[in-house]
Amino acid sequence: MSRVPLRQALAELPAYVPGARSPVGAAAFKLSSNENPYPPLPSVVAAIADAAVDANRYPDMFATELTGALAERLDVPAESVVTGCGSVAVLGHVLTAVCEPGDEVVFPWRSFEAYPIAVTLAGAVPVRVPVAADGRLDLEALADAITERTRVVVVCTPNNPTGPAVHADELDAFLARVPDDVLVVLDEAYVEFVRDPHAPDGLAVYRAHPNVVLLRTFSKAYGLAGLRVGYAVARPRLAAGIRQATTPFGVSHVAQLAAVASLRASRELAARVEGIVAERTRLLTGLRSQGWDVPDSQANFVWLGLGDASASFAERSARAGVVVRPFQGDGVRVSVGEPEATDVFLEFTAAERVR
Ligand SMILES: *Cc1c(COP(=O)(O)O)cnc(C)c1O
Repeated sequence: MSRVPLRQALAELPAYVPGARSPVGAAAFKLSSNENPYPPLPSVVAAIADAAVDANRYPDMFATELTGALAERLDVPAESVVTGCGSVAVLGHVLTAVCEPGDEVVFPWRSFEAYPIAVTLAGAVPVRVPVAADGRLDLEALADAITERTRVVVVCTPNNPTGPAVHADELDAFLARVPDDVLVVLDEAYVEFVRDPHAPDGLAVYRAHPNVVLLRTFSKAYGLAGLRVGYAVARPRLAAGIRQATTPFGVSHVAQLAAVASLRASRELAARVEGIVAERTRLLTGLRSQGWDVPDSQANFVWLGLGDASASFAERSARAGVVVRPFQGDGVRVSVGEPEATDVFLEFTAAERVR
């Protein structure tokens, strides 16, 4: 047994629990990780195959082509875009770039389970602010939680796992209360699925506030979760700091080319996103008409606040052919999948009502 001490912080770290995978050979829909249910488009698969032959070489460390394509798409300077191995990694780099040991990072809870882990690993102190009973972020409470020690506030919109997006007016009021030396990370992992007319325009918010950083990803709407590409949009000085904290050569050549090909195929991918949004409506409507209390969702998942019944519900759902993600004590998150998955799940939930 090794006597080398591990960092004390690790002992307090909550585990990141991945969504369960379907048992091998079992015919089950995997609605546990908010993945896109559709495989990459043929043009993207072709780019992946092309990139494979260069695997003996290090990738472009600055992901120049991808960064340029994103900058053009978002109408920001290329120096403002920082890519990384999924936006989870980028969040870690943002925190490493701005947090001194003991600084506080405020975030909503329950929200993305990576937050407390990333904050603790960065040597900062997690400050959790409860999400309201209707699954919406309490932006007033988030602002109230800011102290002299606060360095960062994370706003997850739409919120994973509860679903609603923040509204533009409440975000404006919140930002007016945040000191200009406190960073606000707007985590927009699901932005492509948002249809709420009151939701903010993240890029406009970014332009109006030098202390706002956007986090986005190719994992959800773009369907590249397995290739690990995400990015931050930040003012050049902040972006340079985040880049300093980034793992060198973090985004593989395959991932870079797949992301560029996906941006080129935006129109086709947008049609898929539209289909997922329609399926989300069908899932929400179906559940509500069965009598379930489901918060609004602006993402590719819905939330059932089942409390202590969550784990057993998830077990029965898996047996019925749909693997979902329980957060025992809080609720169950169900990703929006293909129409067949919605059918099987709604059949299961109808049977649960009469249990
Ligand atoms: C899925 C998700 C991410 C993105 O994860 P990647 O590392 O880019 O795959 C970021 N934030 C939230 C809230 C998410 O749910």
